[in-house]
Amino acid sequence: MKINLNTSAVPTRENRLGSITGYSGTIGDLMEKVECGSLRNSDRCFSQSSLCLSGCAMGLLGSIRDVALVWHAPAGCQSFTNVLGDQLARNINQTFDTKCVGTDLSEADTVFGAIDSVRALIYRAFEQYHPNAIFVASSCVAGVIGEDVDSIVDEISEELGIPVASVHCEGFKSRIWASGFDIADHAVLQHIVKPPKEKRRVVNFKNFFESERKQITELFARLDVTPQLLYSNSTVEELSHLSESLATVCICGTLGTYIGNGLEELYGVPYVRTINPMGMAGFEAWYREIAKLVDREEAAEEVLREEREKYLPQILELKKEIEGHTAVIGMGPGYTYEVARVLQELGIKVVHAAAWHLDHQYDNGKLPPALDYLNKTSSSNITLSVADQQNFEIVNILNRYKPDLYFSRHPGTTVWAIKQGVTSVFVADEYLIFGYKGTLNFAKTIRDNLVNRSFEKNLAARVKLPYTDWWYSQQSNALFEQKLEEEEKPETKESETNEAQAEKALEPVEI
Ligand code: SF4
Repeated sequence: MKINLNTSAVPTRENRLGSITGYSGTIGDLMEKVECGSLRNSDRCFSQSSLCLSGCAMGLLGSIRDVALVWHAPAGCQSFTNVLGDQLARNINQTFDTKCVGTDLSEADTVFGAIDSVRALIYRAFEQYHPNAIFVASSCVAGVIGEDVDSIVDEISEELGIPVASVHCEGFKSRIWASGFDIADHAVLQHIVKPPKEKRRVVNFKNFFESERKQITELFARLDVTPQLLYSNSTVEELSHLSESLATVCICGTLGTYIGNGLEELYGVPYVRTINPMGMAGFEAWYREIAKLVDREEAAEEVLREEREKYLPQILELKKEIEGHTAVIGMGPGYTYEVARVLQELGIKVVHAAAWHLDHQYDNGKLPPALDYLNKTSSSNITLSVADQQNFEIVNILNRYKPDLYFSRHPGTTVWAIKQGVTSVFVADEYLIFGYKGTLNFAKTIRDNLVNRSFEKNLAARVKLPYTDWWYSQQSNALFEQKLEEEEKPETKESETNEAQAEKALEPVEI
């Protein structure tokens, strides 16, 4: 990828990476299409509403401590930021309020324009909040009427002496809300990050809500480095030094691709591209690679040995209670294929994995490591689908596979599964499955959910869903399933012990 810092607009994932929001098939079929370049987006003739990328962009930027957000949008778009601000405050124990003001575009503004309101609000935000940077977001309406926000911010930035950045997050641009992550990263790369003066023993760590800041800090301290968590609770000054770090890592490939590849391309900061630290194999691969880049490989082996000794026996004990159950996953692609791998480590059979979009390549032009790993290590050819959280498709899938468990990271979809009577695990916290400790907690959560299913049963018995038998009989995967029955890859042998399976999960896979 060539990052162009001369423009404030970032190409969407659809245009930049060829990402899609519609697919139904198997992992084998998908990989074949990716390899021969014939993967195409499947359009829907009906769509439910989905998310707007501006929430992802402004949510990330609003979690920086000393910035102000100016939203050039109708009040409805802005209300989304308030929800996000509230979510951030709850998730990261944020001790500061996100400072956000908006132009509240009216019908008259859409005819006559309201660029003067943007100018006035930037000055007001500066005087009222004394921020060290101001991000000015454009909405669909601002984009459609062609408001020239870029010229205003360039002019005012010079006058105020702080970065004032234009953030082009018009929602109509992309169906993929993860494009908002890239838009936020672009604004940071373009306006905040400065060229390096000296290298520092810091590793940039792109995550969402930093609920495990303490654990991350301790793990990194064993490698003699400090984590710079992005962007929650960071400051503009800290972010200006990102180019001086020894490496960039992320908790989620979807979240990290733009900033990780961008810092590598622009300033030579290596980006760690292993599978991510979910489960045992992911944690080992990820931690070893960081250690290699900061030259502390022996220390990493010691930590991994300690973690294994402490947690592996307990994980294997719990595995006996939960293995053999079946699961459907519905998450963003950064987590779908990671969680599928962890479930396999725990002996749970993933019968279907749905991702809210699909990046068949990241910004380095390569396949996402988690998808690649899953394809190379899966014991059966998993059926896959891609949909931008179209819940009517998820209820069809759940009705078809009738899994023991449904895993999702979004409450808006989990609730439908519960109403269908499917035991659901809401993987809200990004660190729920982090490393050995997280894997043990995850296994406990699964066991607890399997043991007591009364909530789902009771709710399902009292709820009438709007779906008809006709809808449930629509089977987009029927052809693939038939083929699978004939060619299914060999399952893990029953004679293999738990220990042998766990060891196998930790074997390095070339990706
Ligand atoms: S920016 Fe567009 S898609 Fe996003 S909330 Fe506003 S109107 Fe909706």
